[in-house]
Amino acid sequence: MSASNFPGIYPLSIVIPIYNEEQALPSLFKELERIQETELKPFSPVEVVLVNDGSRDASWPLIDAQCRRQSNWVGVNLSRNFGHQLALMAGLESARGDAVVSMDADLQDPPAVIVQMMEAHLKGYEVVYGTRRSRGQEPWSKRVTAVLFYWVIEKLSGVAIPRNTGDFRLLSRRALTELARLPETHRFLRGLVPWIGFPQTQVFYDRSDRVAGETHYPFRKMLRLAFDGVTSVSTKPLRLAYLFSLLLFGVFVGYILYVLFNHFVLGGFLIPGWTSLMSAITIFGTIQLLLFGVFGEYLGRVYEQVKNRPLYIIQEIRRSQDAANDHPKSGPTPHSSTS
Ligand code: UDP
Ligand code: MG
Repeated sequence: MSASNFPGIYPLSIVIPIYNEEQALPSLFKELERIQETELKPFSPVEVVLVNDGSRDASWPLIDAQCRRQSNWVGVNLSRNFGHQLALMAGLESARGDAVVSMDADLQDPPAVIVQMMEAHLKGYEVVYGTRRSRGQEPWSKRVTAVLFYWVIEKLSGVAIPRNTGDFRLLSRRALTELARLPETHRFLRGLVPWIGFPQTQVFYDRSDRVAGETHYPFRKMLRLAFDGVTSVSTKPLRLAYLFSLLLFGVFVGYILYVLFNHFVLGGFLIPGWTSLMSAITIFGTIQLLLFGVFGEYLGRVYEQVKNRPLYIIQEIRRSQDAANDHPKSGPTPHSSTS
């Protein structure tokens, strides 16, 4: 099977979501330009899609300028910050390659690995994951949360998610088409991509450090991603909460029996009503809070979903003259002259 079996204007697109990366962008651009001319030459023309996810720094002006200069580079400017996963979707859906590789802007995922991914794709794999062998100099907290994260997701979701894979992966046009058909708002691509099936494989690489700037995934965001991950692929937490409340109920009934036994058979002293009342209030209160919390999470997601909003909104698209553009506009477009 060859990549050209599927419709796409380019053999390969590279999609990069970008949020406040002004420090990392110059080295990213340099590396991409270099690799376009060297390792990725056999797949040229390579399309580069840069999605600006509502950055508050100079990222968009930099992207804008770069995409004017370089043919086959596309800048997609979202109207605000939609978050990594949705920015990635915006990029994937804007890309026009037969194979589409997504990666971070910080060069933690070495672009040279794309060659291995393309080789696997040309052997017939529709999805190729970039899997980390090491994690560079990442802090302990990040490693531990990552291990926990994969463990929780795998235990609860029931979907086998390849370990140590982030969002550095290749999707064929076909896999991408199927992925785009999944309508959910709380997108967790690492869970959805294994779900779509097709032949999938992994290539291994060493994860390096960020070239510049800081991670946008502090613990709080990782936790949210984990919760989105679990709830988007599984309703097991609902059942867990149910079991847990049954367990607490059993403890409570056992306690009542013990108190009654103690009083009536052993003749123990009781402050009338106090112990039982207090324990009933606390235990039932706990159960109810627990269930409300879990229901609330799901209800919230159902609510989000029935609103059926578009996943993201594109503010403007910057394309230079490229393979798909027979009628290039001359001069700057109205949006781009300021800032
Ligand atoms: N990113 C984004 N929107 C966000 C947060 C992050 O587009 O709201 C981008 C970010 O610029 C980077 C990628 O998503 O290219 C992954 O983020 P980061 O490198 O901070 O995550 P980490 O590699 O530390 O998990
Ligand atoms: Mg990163």
